[in-house]
Formats: sequence, structure tokens, C-alpha cells
Amino acid sequence: MNKNSPLNMTVQIDSSKPVMVTGATGYVAGYIVKRLLEEGLTVHATVRDPENKQKLAHLDDLAAELPGNIHYFKADLLDPEAFFSPMKDCELVFHTASPFTSDIKDPQRELIDPALRGTENVLRTASKTPSVKRVVDTSSCAAIYSDATECALGPDGMLTEDMWNTSSSLNYQPYSFSKVLAERRAWELHGEQNQWELITINPSLVMGPPLNPSHVTSDSFMIMKQLVDGTAKMGAPKLGMGIVDVRDVAEAHYRAGFTPEAHGRYITSGHNTNFLDLGKSLLNKYGDKYPLPKRALPKWLVMLVGPMMNKQLTREFIRKNVDVEWKADTSKIKRELNMKFRPLKETMEDMMQALVEAGEV
Ligand code: NAP
Repeated sequence: MNKNSPLNMTVQIDSSKPVMVTGATGYVAGYIVKRLLEEGLTVHATVRDPENKQKLAHLDDLAAELPGNIHYFKADLLDPEAFFSPMKDCELVFHTASPFTSDIKDPQRELIDPALRGTENVLRTASKTPSVKRVVDTSSCAAIYSDATECALGPDGMLTEDMWNTSSSLNYQPYSFSKVLAERRAWELHGEQNQWELITINPSLVMGPPLNPSHVTSDSFMIMKQLVDGTAKMGAPKLGMGIVDVRDVAEAHYRAGFTPEAHGRYITSGHNTNFLDLGKSLLNKYGDKYPLPKRALPKWLVMLVGPMMNKQLTREFIRKNVDVEWKADTSKIKRELNMKFRPLKETMEDMMQALVEAGEV
């Protein structure tokens, strides 16, 4: 099946029914919950630990000030029974929970198992829950590519929704491997039934202000901290990457959920950029107070010192990503979901400001 050709089926979601969001404590999921609450919807939010009131405080605050309602359900991705109760009566499911971290010892246990088993458990539950009409799965550009050199394989040197990551493995970029395995499984499970429609949102690196700056786990913050904590004060590599604002990612999920004709995969990326330019976007406002990078580190130097500074900066990774332009074709989401993306500077400054105010940088 070509996942990107329009289907005959359109899906109308009844907004009086509850909507489920997995991993509601997460960076991206928090903004999806916020967007649903703004519309007055009832959110069935799955979290690992509903007793941890501190991790839920920002969601409680949103529910108190916005028209919608939130109900919490305890669910671990590895538990096949956990999603029945939160999914009951839902027509729309957002599956966002999945670990995004590079701080791991055992990639199989810490990344692959929760990503893959979680997708299986959520989608199999959907197939046994007659009310479910549509699942919006948070995949990633990491399911499309591993290294910026792969952009050259696409038409006009751009990644497209027709491309799949075939170069990651348990040993090379295991997070990307977890995302491509999970998304492939999602499409397989979708193909085994004809009750619910599947849409994937494939964001590039997500940046922007967190709703809960004191409890961040996403690697997006590790990347931000590396830009501002002095690690890059002598310069930063021009590491090609895409960036998208977390608020735009939530909007993309919302539109994918409620646009009847939405279908297939959607690359969700605001800017073709690189690590150095992320740092430069903060210079104007924060350059006096923080040791931000101002110049590019030459590739040979990154090759020499990179592997000693960060275990992910392997020679192979540097060769395939530093001084390599990253480009993605975002015409599908702009055309079909009418998405517009915030300026990069606004995203970066708002993220930095939120972390400064919380005392996190
Ligand atoms: P995050 O803030 O760390 O959120 C991850 C969420 O997954 C958390 O709510 C976490 O719950 C939950 N989770 C992890 N393991 C779980 C398990 N075994 N059982 C139940 N829940 C579990 O990261 P994020 O950046 O928002 O990522 C969310 C999604 O966006 C992921 O699917 C990620 O791959 C995707 N994505 C992120 C980016 C990015 O740049 N941030 C880019 C593309 C795609 P706890 O709070 O209990 O730990």
C-alpha cells in the first residue's frame, strides 16, 4: 500500500467523545493535551505514575483554566492490558509515549522494547475497541533517515514521506532504530484491520518552551543545554538537522486528528538548519550572558575531539552529518493540513526563556 496516496475513506471524529493521549507527562504530549483542552474536549491521559502529582501539576493547571476535562489512567507501554480502560469510548487516539533519550546502556530494553511493544499494545487495543476510528501516531523524521547524507537520496536532495530509515541499528543510532521499527509495525497492524485509520506525524528535532521545565526528560533539552552550557563556546559543528516548534507539532497532531481527509505520513518540520545556527539564533538575546557558539568547528577537528566529548559523536556519524545540508520536503503537511511553522528564532528564544526562568540553564 502507498501510505501517502489519498484513501477513499474520510474520518469524522465526534468531539463529544473522549480522546486518548498516551504519555501525557511528555514534552510533546503536554502540548497535544493543551490543544485538546482548548477545544473543550475530554482527554483520557495515560501516564506511568498518576500518583506523582508534581509531574501532573502543569496538566492540572491547564485543565483548570481551559474548557476541556482531563482524566488520568495508569499505563505502562509494556503492559498489553493497560490501554483498554483509557481507550473505552474514544474515537480518536494519539499515541505519543516513547522514550527519546540517548542516555542509555541497553538500547533493546530502554528504547526498542517500549517503542515497539508500546505501539503493538496500543494499536492491538484499538483493534479490540469498536469506538476507535483513527489513531495518530507520533513517529519521527528518525523513521525516515539516520544521517543527513541520506537527504541526497530523495528528489531534489530532500527527505520525503516515501523514504524509510534503513541504516540505523541496535548499535548505530538506536533511537532512530526504535522509531522506524515502531512505525513499520504500526503500518503492519493498520493493514491487518479496517476499523481505524492510521496517520503518522514525523517531526524533525522538536524545540520550544516546555510546559513543565523542572521535569524534562526529552533529549531536546539535552541538545539545548549543550548549546548554552559552554560545551560549544569554542564553536559548534555545522551538523545538518531539521527543527520544529513543539507548539506546531501539537497543532499538526490536532489537525491530523480532526481533518477528515488526513492520511498517511506527514513530515513535520519548520526549518532546514544545523547545530551552529541553532546557537546563533540565541546570540542576539542571550549572547552576553551565555557562552554560545559563534563559529563553525572544522570537520577535521570534530573528527578528532568529538568522539572523546560525546559517545554519540562517532567518526561515522560525524562524516555523514557534519557540514552536510539537511533538507526535507514539507509540502504535504502545508498543502493538506494547511500547516504554517513559527520562525526558528521565536522557537529557540521561547525555549531558552522558559529554561532560564525555571533556573534550568
Ligand atoms: P519525553 O518528554 O521524554 O516524553 C516521552 C513520554 O513517553 C513520557 O511521557 C514518558 O513517560 C513516556 N514513556 C516512556 N517510556 C514509557 C513506558 N515504558 N511506559 C509508559 N510511558 C513511557 O519526550 P518527547 O520529546 O515528548 O517525545 C514524545 C514522542 O515524540 C516520542 O514518540 C518521540 O519519539 C517523538 N519525537 C520527539 C522528538 C523530539 O525532538 N523531542 C522528535 C520527533 C519525534 P514518563 O513521564 O513516565 O517517563
